[in-house]
Amino acid sequence: MMTTLYGSLEAGGTKFVCAVGDAQFNVVEKVQFPTTTPQETLAQTINFFKKYADRLVGIAIGSFGPIDIDLNSLTYGYITTTPKPHWANVDLVGTLAKQFDIPFYFTTDVNSSAFGETLVRKGVNSLVYYTIGTGIGAGAIQNGEFVGGVGHTEAGHTLVALHSEDQVNGFYGTCPFHKGCLEGLAAGPSLEARTGVRGELIGLNSNVWDIQAYYIAQAALQATLLYRPQVIVFGGGVMAQEHMVKRVHQQFTELLNGYLPVPDLNEYIVTPAVPENGSATLGNFALAKQVADKF
Ligand code: ZN
Repeated sequence: MMTTLYGSLEAGGTKFVCAVGDAQFNVVEKVQFPTTTPQETLAQTINFFKKYADRLVGIAIGSFGPIDIDLNSLTYGYITTTPKPHWANVDLVGTLAKQFDIPFYFTTDVNSSAFGETLVRKGVNSLVYYTIGTGIGAGAIQNGEFVGGVGHTEAGHTLVALHSEDQVNGFYGTCPFHKGCLEGLAAGPSLEARTGVRGELIGLNSNVWDIQAYYIAQAALQATLLYRPQVIVFGGGVMAQEHMVKRVHQQFTELLNGYLPVPDLNEYIVTPAVPENGSATLGNFALAKQVADKF
């Protein structure tokens, strides 16, 4: 008997990760390739999923953004105003949907990860997921639904208070749109901009980590105040270093200053529970099942 498969596409600014999963959401095959031009990268994506076309019943796409997720919009399914060369105003969903007669689900990469994380955490249906890497993005789930209005949320670009040392050194952030937003002050490139060395080469005793933790703790404070989630997950390369979570806990405690009750920080501000960066893939399989079941 031919078994049903679900498709997952994580469309990242650096790489695309394509996967198919079985009915239990086990990965059957997963591949990745660098994000080059839309023509080349989408052709590779289509070739991968074509191998499974007779068994695929739905594909979920979690994309870098900003993206248009308004089903009534003329540009639904597009990547919109990204500064990434070649990728502004690209019809991501439309290009793929032309090749497959199955339903698609379209959301942000961080929403996919947030959804995946709720699936492996018992009793959790309100969660915020941040990725701290080359950029910063966040997805929020409230009572099992993605938070968003006319579009998806963009919590990576909220404004944050400047650390006193950045003030003294005249470092005001790297975001091309806002300079000193969360992404501009705490994403990977900000580390290099402050120190002149790449993040992975900066020693553990450098105070740049506490500066960065100060901004990440502000993100956790915003998430706490805005959404009152059960869990805040921080993924991405920067947070893979164990010392960062501890630094964020300390700074978060100072910033919250006892204003609200929150869970034990070891359970509340955490790194991903799905191993090997698999949160988005798992989330996408489940979202692909949702659209397939409704089709
Ligand atoms: Zn920004």
